[in-house]
Amino acid sequence: MSQKRIVIIGAGFGGLALAKNLAHSNFEVLLIDKNNFHTFQPLLYQVATGGLEPDSIVYPVRRVLRGMKNVTFRMAEVIKINEEEANIETDIGLIHYDYLVIAAGSTHNFFNFDDIKEQLLPLKGIRDALDIRSFLMQNMEKAVIAKEHREKKEIVNIAIIGGGPTGIEIAGALAEMRAKVLPKDYPDFDFGHMDIHLFEAQDALLNGMSEESSKAALEYLHELNVSVNLNAMVKDFTGNAVILDDGTTFDTQTVLWTAGVKGALIQGIDSTRHAPANRFAVNEFNKLKGSDRIFAIGDIAGHCTEENPKGLPMLAQVAIQQGKHLAKNLKRQEAGQAMIPFEYKNKGTMATIGKNRAVVDLPHWKFQGRFAWIIWMFVHLLSLVGFRNKVVTLIDWIQNYINYDRPLGIIIRRYNRPIRKKEIGV
Ligand SMILES: Cc1cc2nc3c(=O)[nH]c(=O)nc-3n(C[C@H](O)[C@H](O)[C@H](O)COP(=O)(O)OP(=O)(O)OC[C@H]3O[C@@H](n4cnc5c(N)ncnc54)[C@H](O)[C@@H]3O)c2cc1C
Repeated sequence: MSQKRIVIIGAGFGGLALAKNLAHSNFEVLLIDKNNFHTFQPLLYQVATGGLEPDSIVYPVRRVLRGMKNVTFRMAEVIKINEEEANIETDIGLIHYDYLVIAAGSTHNFFNFDDIKEQLLPLKGIRDALDIRSFLMQNMEKAVIAKEHREKKEIVNIAIIGGGPTGIEIAGALAEMRAKVLPKDYPDFDFGHMDIHLFEAQDALLNGMSEESSKAALEYLHELNVSVNLNAMVKDFTGNAVILDDGTTFDTQTVLWTAGVKGALIQGIDSTRHAPANRFAVNEFNKLKGSDRIFAIGDIAGHCTEENPKGLPMLAQVAIQQGKHLAKNLKRQEAGQAMIPFEYKNKGTMATIGKNRAVVDLPHWKFQGRFAWIIWMFVHLLSLVGFRNKVVTLIDWIQNYINYDRPLGIIIRRYNRPIRKKEIGV
């Protein structure tokens, strides 16, 4: 019998877990990603704020797959799935599959800001993180030579839209940069000019985590002098000011967008087989609705049940567990055994807000503060892919802890944002 070919789209948390768990099996596995590296997204905000080098949180896919003889990698962008022909269209040609696993993750969701998305700074990939870092440092260089008080403020003020984990983590890191790092590099600049505002449309931060964590996060951000605006619906961004729906404005040229993500759909699967938030609808075996040969895992997969009407949360743990589980199920199917339904085991969620402050929600225990921060560091360090990345990150963290510094403020990307300067109120 010839080997069955499993094609996996995406070398993120889900795709990589699946490929690793299919290594040394009887399948021929082809892993495809448009990038030649895996990204550890939970630490992107540290790259964006100069705390970690980009190379510490990405890892070459081919290096992960070394020694796995039945697993091949191709760097390619998948454009379309042709279900009838059992192949996918990519920018390097057509690829046939026996089984297809879509693990393409998610992408920015700009909601009603789609027409001005070029002006916002999202944080989803390593390029976004480097864009943000360069943008912030370019702005500092502009601010030191600006003449007017209002102009200075507009350049250095920062608005963060979205009070989820990414929003609060980056707000905390930026507040520490403002307090401890930037004054050392720009001794001639008065950082009293710089305000950091976080806008959240709901009445609490960290929606999805416990009330204790939400309250602690708010308190920590207040301690770090971040202005948190709850029930604050941002209506527009003019290029030099954010406007709320009640008419309030905040002068800034910098808007970090962390307000939402949606599934990174791939053409070819019609919308009747989509789930909420642009995901592919799957069953308890991660099988795409109406298909026997296509599966979806991770952020792109929406398994909606009574308990989870919107599907499981878009989290690394969900993707990893689904990848591992699907590997088992595909092997079972080949052996003529029935597949086992996937059950998510919640290992907890956490977020950090600057040094010595974090919130952790475990299934039976919730805690905040310094101990939570140590646990947060430990978990993230162990989860990084590659020994070198773990060691370099640990060294950077120890150095940053002792010196209270974020030394990586090099402008290596020119961020040319299209300027749409609209008068406020027009
Ligand atoms: C800033 C940030 C912070 C986060 N923090 C946390 C956290 O603290 N804890 C947590 O649990 N989760 C966190 N998450 C969420 C977590 O990263 C995701 O849930 C997880 O990455 C999902 O894994 P995945 O395998 O589904 O997709 P991903 O890991 O996103 O991987 C998808 C892969 O598919 C590739 N791809 C996409 N489309 C195509 C295509 N058409 N062709 C070829 N390749 C394609 C991409 O290049 C990517 O490598 C965070 C996310 C972000 C953005």
